[in-house]
Amino acid sequence: MSLTQGYSIMFNIILFGPPGSGKGTQSEKLIAKYGLKHLSTGDLLRSEIAASTPLGLEAKNFMDKGQLVPDEVVIGMISSALEANPQAQGFLFDGFPRTEAQAEALDKLLKLNQTEIHVVLALDVSDEELVKRLLNRGLTSGRSDDADEKVIRARIAEYNLKTAAVAAYYKKFDKVVHIKGEGTLDEIFQLLSNEVNGRMAEKV
Ligand code: ADP
Repeated sequence: MSLTQGYSIMFNIILFGPPGSGKGTQSEKLIAKYGLKHLSTGDLLRSEIAASTPLGLEAKNFMDKGQLVPDEVVIGMISSALEANPQAQGFLFDGFPRTEAQAEALDKLLKLNQTEIHVVLALDVSDEELVKRLLNRGLTSGRSDDADEKVIRARIAEYNLKTAAVAAYYKKFDKVVHIKGEGTLDEIFQLLSNEVNGRMAEKV
């Protein structure tokens, strides 16, 4: 991959948190405000499923059980997405990385392009609130993984088992900020924006 000029001026964010913590909703607001390219592995996987690609069919087996899709699959998707967006002012990663191996792979891909993750915004929400939100979302989202409490709890368990460690990984580099993910959408967005503004100011 050879993404070249301009990457040193990028600003890259990971929006981190368990399923149902509000990453998708807040991502939309953040990309609009800061002109970032939104990369959601969940959305990319659901597009593959909708198009009935071999990758989508493989991924669906894992997603329907609430399990993570294998690292190689999602890392490949992110690598292609970075390559496809050489003009981006920065990326907002949503739902990625979800394992330490994914975090290491992402660091390498960004480094190849003379850039890095600038901040990891971690949304904190209690497990019971997550289950409530996801069951509620399942009434209208059409997502099979939101329709069944067993699958929802399996996703939260996967998060605690494999994904929570990603925050520890970025803590070593002092990149993680915890934000209370309960409150109104606007309150949470304000807290996220304050952090982004602060980190952007530090960078220049
Ligand atoms: P949520 O975080 O609300 O569960 P997502 O759309 O981010 O929703 O993810 C839905 C499902 O897609 C996950 O439960 C998992 O099976 C799969 N998935 C998404 N991103 C990744 C990833 N980075 N690594 C592995 N699996 C993933």
